[in-house]
Amino acid sequence: MTDFTTLGLAEPILRAVATEGYTTPTPIQRETIPALINGRDVLGIAQTGTGKTAAFVLPMLHHLSLDHNRPAPKTAKNLILAPTRELVAQIADCVKAYGRNLRFNMAVVVGGVKPGPQIRSMSQGVDILVATPGRLLDLMASGAIRLDHTRGVVLDEADQMMDIGFLPAIKRIMEKLPKARQTVLLSATMPAPIKALADGILFRPVEVSVAPQSKPVDAIDQQVILLPSNEKRDRLVDILSKLPQARAIVFTRTKRGADKVAAHLDEYGFKTAAIHGNKSQGQRERALDSFRDNKVQILVATDIAARGIDVDGVTHVINFEMPNVPEAYVHRIGRTARAGATGAAISLVDGTERGLLKDVEKLIGRSLGATGSFGGDDRGTVRPQSRTPHPGGSHGQKPARGGSAHGHGGGHAGNGGNRSHAAGGSGRPGPKPAGRPARPSANPNSPAQIAAAVSQRDGGREGIRRSAPKA
Ligand code: AMP
Repeated sequence: MTDFTTLGLAEPILRAVATEGYTTPTPIQRETIPALINGRDVLGIAQTGTGKTAAFVLPMLHHLSLDHNRPAPKTAKNLILAPTRELVAQIADCVKAYGRNLRFNMAVVVGGVKPGPQIRSMSQGVDILVATPGRLLDLMASGAIRLDHTRGVVLDEADQMMDIGFLPAIKRIMEKLPKARQTVLLSATMPAPIKALADGILFRPVEVSVAPQSKPVDAIDQQVILLPSNEKRDRLVDILSKLPQARAIVFTRTKRGADKVAAHLDEYGFKTAAIHGNKSQGQRERALDSFRDNKVQILVATDIAARGIDVDGVTHVINFEMPNVPEAYVHRIGRTARAGATGAAISLVDGTERGLLKDVEKLIGRSLGATGSFGGDDRGTVRPQSRTPHPGGSHGQKPARGGSAHGHGGGHAGNGGNRSHAAGGSGRPGPKPAGRPARPSANPNSPAQIAAAVSQRDGGREGIRRSAPKA
């Protein structure tokens, strides 16, 4: 079995790795570290939890340990781009930990906080800059940061950066970088736009894939419970009551949904924190810290806010709502069973989410063996694949409310091309569910009603695409 000493890393880095308690490199580290030390570009397909951060940070520190030149003012020798403030903070923590025996300087540049301190931290230039793309572009535009001296670039969680809508920003940033550089692109999945980006920015990369694409880790026990949407909250309380020792992350699709679920759990006496894009940086950090320190047992989160959360010992991931994008399911459940532990994922799926469940099963290549039943609550489903309308709801049920997800996204779908597969989110504003006659007296089977149902459904699909939630 390989140990770290065979990878070619400088001695102060090996000492830091030992301090972290790592004895054996993970598969991505074993393949990536020697390639990066040798100056190669890397294209990595890897989820969080695989040790990917050390895989690119350790070689970066190795190169810095051999380079005694000071950075030029406002420049960064190395740039690490990540989708969220949380992930940037986590990467920066790793850089500090792995670089504890080296002298170098680092700056963190993220949105949501005042730019002044960030501008000052860049004034003398840095060895490593960890940033989110939006704020970096702003500071480049104002002249506070220059990338013309940058020789090492890492794009971490590229697919998530695309989902947030950062692809144009990334392309603009890449244009400002010198051609002679070393580039690493890491992504949990490899949708076509990311592959195209990789082809454009990497030079003969070493390709590393540490888990089959989009396959959840085997250590996760996955359960799916079908149920009417209005039973979701009670079922959630029920599940959590039976798991007094659980450290759980509950996922919702929308920010408002996260707040409502958190409030509901609070009412039932669960210690809960919510984390999503409407929370300030301070609130997000406090929520994460209290979850990490076990002060709260349950974290309720939206997808984007939860990206890259690296908390050990998460025992359960509960999908209160299925994600619009099937790949997000893989990311969500990857929050548990980290670093060799086991974990469980429980998805609560109502009738409107049937299509989303099918998309996930298609992606992971197997059935999730759902139990339970929608209890007649299966209307409003928008399936782009199926052109068969569902005229006339049979029993005049109310449209599915989708638990607490009444929030409107208000965000942008970014460049996430695969959002067009999004099935009808429950409780979204806009068109009524397909199959609901426009007027109670109309014959639901008349051609006009069928046409109206189809057009409502297709309109719904467009509406969903436009209003994909911004977490
Ligand atoms: P990452 O995929 O970079 O988010 O890392 C996931 C977790 O694995 C983090 O908690 C790391 O501290 C841990 N880790 C990374 N490399 C190793 C290693 N070689 N041995 C043990 N744990 C590791």
